[in-house]
Formats: sequence, structure tokens, C-alpha cells
Amino acid sequence: CTIPRSDASDVADAAEAAKAAREGEWSKWSVGQRADLLDAVADIIESRLEEIAAIESRDTGKPFRLAATVDIPRAVANFRFFASAVRQHHDGFHEMADAINYTLRRPIGTVGLITPWNLPLYLLTWKTAPALAMGNTIVAKPSEITPMSATVLAEVLHEVGLPPGVFNLVHGLGHEAGQAIVEHPDIGAISFTGGTSTGAIVGRTASERFKKVSLELGGKNATVVFDDCDVEKAVEGAVRAGFANQGQVCLCGSRLLVQKGIYNQFVAAFVAKTAAMNVGDPADPDTSLGALISHAHRDKVESFIALAQEEGGTVETGGVRPDLPDPLNAGAFLRPTVISGLSSSCRTSTEEIFGPVVTVHPFDDEDEAIRVANGVQYGLAASVWTQDLGRAHRVSAALDVGMVWVNTWLLRDLRVPFGGVKASGVGREGGHYSLEFFSEPKNVCIKLA
Ligand code: NAD
Repeated sequence: CTIPRSDASDVADAAEAAKAAREGEWSKWSVGQRADLLDAVADIIESRLEEIAAIESRDTGKPFRLAATVDIPRAVANFRFFASAVRQHHDGFHEMADAINYTLRRPIGTVGLITPWNLPLYLLTWKTAPALAMGNTIVAKPSEITPMSATVLAEVLHEVGLPPGVFNLVHGLGHEAGQAIVEHPDIGAISFTGGTSTGAIVGRTASERFKKVSLELGGKNATVVFDDCDVEKAVEGAVRAGFANQGQVCLCGSRLLVQKGIYNQFVAAFVAKTAAMNVGDPADPDTSLGALISHAHRDKVESFIALAQEEGGTVETGGVRPDLPDPLNAGAFLRPTVISGLSSSCRTSTEEIFGPVVTVHPFDDEDEAIRVANGVQYGLAASVWTQDLGRAHRVSAALDVGMVWVNTWLLRDLRVPFGGVKASGVGREGGHYSLEFFSEPKNVCIKLA
């Protein structure tokens, strides 16, 4: 499709519209009215689920089934969840002997939302819903690679009666429209999800202007499998963690650490299950992996597979493009790939590839597993597979990440803190964390007579 290549002047227009809207009728909407609007958005997206899932699948190359069972239902859930969360949200009251304090929570004003291409509507709604719930106005920029579902969202928000200027969608390139959003003096907070190197630019630009900033960045997450696990469930979980959305989820378990006692058996089962995955037509319900986001991105992923071989790795399965009929053979497809024999500290094992590539590594004991898992610049998530409860607690506590799943992966409760440490970001999203990010507390202290 064709979208506008917006620049700083378009962002300035959007910010001006957002300012006018926040000074208009929107500022008088009650919490209940805003929550009702979010519910209405959820209802419309849900009623158009299949159509929007098809749009998302076409735009990203992900399987339609994935968009229809994960991405779009999650967009619906984001709106319903924050409608309910804001209805329940309450603030502080602190009594003194001679005074009372109460805390007001005010919208920030206009907030900038910048999102990536891997989960377009899922992540844009994860920010839009709490930002609206708290009464802000928005200037949003989706990834230039996946603009379609954001446009649908703007239409839906218009349809449910959001006052004009409250939600402004600016399509365009990151270093042009995105950068202009981060720099704009009237946009008071930036919620960014994307790559770590972009996050560094966004973080620097925002902090120089004293903006509130939330950064959800890259990951190189470990799947840590102990020899006391339920092997069948762990293999299934590790495959899902490795290759969901063609491995293009920030939470994907791209490093598989397996205890030596079951290493050979586990890797054989993991490789067999990976090799059996269907890669191809995103519209086919039997497809497990669709296309990668672009040819340029596939080139990058393939360059890592070549690097892995230079670094001494063995490709156990995958590493090649699937043989697909015309016109699918023109797409950016790649077989899910498993690489063994690499040191846990080489580039392939430590850098974010963001594609269907998993490296496998044996380990002896808990200490070694923790050391290897923590030995990367990232700290987003991990999954731990064990039936020993004490070990699950010990290892979860010792991992330098924001989120640990035990005997599962990507099981989400929208109330819990979502985010990472180290180069995976700053801040948390989810539940009250999002509501607090998109608002400013103001304390009022009243001296009693
Ligand atoms: P990206 O950093 O290239 O782009 C993300 C967004 O930032 C896009 O909208 C882009 O146009 C914009 N952008 C680029 N330069 C900018 C600038 N100078 N100023 C402002 N905005 C700018 O990321 P991507 O390639 O779209 O997405 C993949 C990355 O996102 C991966 O690293 C992945 O791990 C990460 N990600 C993280 C999470 C999380 O929650 N932690 C979730 C999904 C994806």
C-alpha cells in the first residue's frame, strides 16, 4: 500500500490538533465515559476480527491463524482490560495529625506512541488504551513497514465518537516522523517499543527534553531446560518460544540451554519438531510459519546463519529457504533453524537476530545455566523448565530479566509488570504500571484548622 511520508511539519500539525483537543471537550470526559469508549472500541474490533486479522497477516506475512487467535484478540483484550482497570484505579490518601494529603492523577497532556512491525495492532493498542484511559491525547507512529492496522484503529476510534484531535496517526519513517515526535516540545511523554539501538536514540532525545520515557526494547531470551523437566511439554514450549511469529517476538526464546543429562535426547526431539513445521502460505490454516517481515530482514537473518557457521556452529535443521510454488517463492520465507556447537559467548549466541533461529547449548548445573543466561547485554525474559519447585524459585530469582515463565512461555495476565532490564529497556507496562506511566500524580496537602 501507499502511505504518507510525514515530516516534522505534519507532526507539528498533529501536536497542535492534540493540544486543541486536550483543551476541549475531551478534558471534561469522566473516567466512566472514557472506559465506555474503550469498551466500544473493543466491541468493534472484535466484530471485525477476521477482516482485521487478514489485514494484519497481509501486512506482516504472519499466518492468518496467528493474527486471528493472538494479535487481534489481544488488541480487543487491551481495550477491555484498560477500560476495567481505569474504572478500578484509585489514588493515595495520607493522613497527618494536623493535615490531610490526597493525590490527584492527571493526564500528561499529549503523549507520543512509537511502535514496531512485529505485533502491529497488538502493541499499538497496548499503549493507546491506557493513554486514552488516563485522558491523554495521542500522536502515534506505527512502523512504516506495517501501517495498515493502525489506520483501521484510527477509523474505529473515529467511529466510536472519540473527539477529533484526541488520536492522531502520523505515518512515516522513524528518523523523520518518529524523531520529530520525540523532539516535539508539546509532546510530554514517549512510549517506545522497538530495537535497542533506536531506543538509545529515543531515550537520549527524550531525556534531554525532560520527557517521561518508557522503552521496551530487544531481547535474547534463554529457554532453560533442566533434566528433571517434563520433556514432552518442554520441547513443545521451546519450539513455540523459538519460532512463534517466525521468531519475531521480543520475548522469543532464541537461546536454548539444556542440562547435559538430557541434552542429546532433548535436542533430537526439538530438531525433529522444528523440522516438521510448515512454512508457507500465511492464509493456509496448517501454516506454522509465514514470511519474515521483509527481504532485507531475511538477508540479515541469513547473514547470522552464515556467521554461525564461521563461528563453528552446525545447522541441525533449516538454514535454507523453503521450496514454495509461485507466487509464494517471491516472499521472504525461511525454514526454522536450529544451530548447535556454538560457544555461548559468540555473536550468534548473544546478539538479537529476531528471526526463526535458535542456538542450543549444553550446561552442567544451575550455576552454569544462570551464568550463561545472564551473559548477554539483554534482560527481557526467560523460561525455565523444571519440576523442582525450589529450583524454579532459585533460578527465577537469579536471572537478570524482567519476566520469567516457569513451565510455560508467553502466558500473559495483563495486570503484571511487562518489561525488561539492561539493554532490554526502561520501565514497565501493564495494569497500574501503564496507568501510572500515562499520568502524573499531584499531591495536595491541606492543613487542618
Ligand atoms: P525499530 O527500532 O527499527 O523501529 C521501531 C519504531 O521506531 C518504528 O516505528 C520506527 O519507524 C521508529 N523509529 C526508528 N528510528 C526512530 C527515531 N530516530 N526516532 C523515533 N522513532 C524511530 O524496531 P523494529 O525493527 O520495528 O522492531 C523490532 C525490534 O523491536 C526488535 O529489536 C524487538 O526486540 C523490539 N521489540 C521489543 C518489544 C518489547 O516489548 N520489549 C516488543 C516488540 C518488539
